[in-house]
Amino acid sequence: MGGQAGSLSATTRSRISGWVMAEFQDRILKCSECGTEFVFTAGEQHFFHDKNFKNEPKRCKACKSRRQGSSGGGKTETMTVCSQCGRETTVPFKPTQGRPVYCRECFLVRKTAAAAGGGR
Ligand SMILES: [Zn+2]
Ligand SMILES: [Zn+2]
Repeated sequence: MGGQAGSLSATTRSRISGWVMAEFQDRILKCSECGTEFVFTAGEQHFFHDKNFKNEPKRCKACKSRRQGSSGGGKTETMTVCSQCGRETTVPFKPTQGRPVYCRECFLVRKTAAAAGGGR
């Protein structure tokens, strides 16, 4: 009996799926990173559908936030050498090759000099 009921509901659903686009149900997905099962909620599915995202989320919330935190959430200080005074310094961005990078002090000096001399 159980099997019959299941196939029946599947048929019904596929028949009405054309117009029930907005109807979503919570789904259980498995995290590809830690293997934990997590809920892909109806709201999230709606959001994905709204944004036209084709891919379902692959990671649970914990793994997702962990990845985001490690990749760009925190401070990224890059060690570099000041083009002005040659001292080692850290900058909160990735220095572009060929572009001069200044330490805090030299940067401030240059800024003040530009403001003072480059004015009208
Ligand atoms: Zn996970
Ligand atoms: Zn410097």
